[in-house]
Amino acid sequence: MNEGSDRAVLVTGAGYVGSHTAKALHARGIVPVVFDNLSSGYREAVRWGPFEYGDIRDTAAVISAIEKHSISAVIHFAGLIEVGRSVARPDLFWDVNVIGTLRLLEAVKLTRTPRVVFSSSAAVYGHTDLARISEAAPKHPASPYGDTKLAGERMIEAQCAAYGLTGFALRYFNAAGADTGALIGEAHEPETHLIPLAIAAALDQSRALTVFGDDFATPDGTCLRDYVHVNDLAAAHVAAVLAKRPAGSFEALNLGTGVGHSVREVIAAVQAALGRDISFSRGPRRTGDPPILVADPSLAQQNLGWKAEHSGLDEIVRDAMRWEAAPAYGVGRRPPRATGLAAVAA
Ligand code: UDP
Repeated sequence: MNEGSDRAVLVTGAGYVGSHTAKALHARGIVPVVFDNLSSGYREAVRWGPFEYGDIRDTAAVISAIEKHSISAVIHFAGLIEVGRSVARPDLFWDVNVIGTLRLLEAVKLTRTPRVVFSSSAAVYGHTDLARISEAAPKHPASPYGDTKLAGERMIEAQCAAYGLTGFALRYFNAAGADTGALIGEAHEPETHLIPLAIAAALDQSRALTVFGDDFATPDGTCLRDYVHVNDLAAAHVAAVLAKRPAGSFEALNLGTGVGHSVREVIAAVQAALGRDISFSRGPRRTGDPPILVADPSLAQQNLGWKAEHSGLDEIVRDAMRWEAAPAYGVGRRPPRATGLAAVAA
């Protein structure tokens, strides 16, 4: 039986979900060693364990970090994430997400690190008419980004079987919210996600929000998404690190709530939470947006005992808002955005 680590875990990627996971690992007495080349991660968000500068494509650098810290599991977040950019620059995505994962797995194999937990995405499913998507649903990614996530999963699954690793691929639906202390939060550059953009538009009337399509076959015509609190995602990673599994096992699990919220509902929730109107206009559909993306999360509950506990829309919006409006915190604070919002790293 290959038991989960209770010592040091290598966390590739000092980004949004990686930083929240590092905090959650630390709270469970596990040392998160964060490995990042800082191309989009934030050094300031590495607060709960050591930092190792390096590129996941550099197998020797990964091996050196694994050996230096006696790592017993790797949680692999580092990668490129913007779907639109993946269409424009697929070569970059294949390089960082696929070649990068391959090189990282080489280091895992050579150091005999027994466990890999992979940050995957609902993007592996592509377009679907299903009201709730289970892990068995067809996988036809609609973007090079989704292709690279599916390729990463398949590489890990095959290496688990071949080399006796234990693997998990965690497929996030819509990651949202922030640390309850507003110490870390969502700070993508550029920001393309609905909730931070809606909050920004509410706080700064000069920043209008565009609703990408209101003629979908959904109850109010706007897209339905399954928003899941980043701290719930972090908890699932900790559970995947600690779960007892036989060597050679691999599981892909959806992380979502099973409930979809429309773009209009999100706007209404932000307006209610802030007590301010959001000026928004209707725009055309965004290329590649499926009308409905909602998880069937029952397998994660069955296999990991995981369930989203903090993913009510109001709780997500409250924590995201607190983060976006945080006047100041921590070290390495970046200059405020043009809107006057705190734009600190995570
Ligand atoms: N959306 C929108 N306006 C925006 C950003 C997003 O209407 O400025 C919509 C988008 O079309 C999708 C939903 O909000 O239906 C969630 O988008 P987001 O980019 O947050 O996450 P995604 O579902 O693309 O991963």
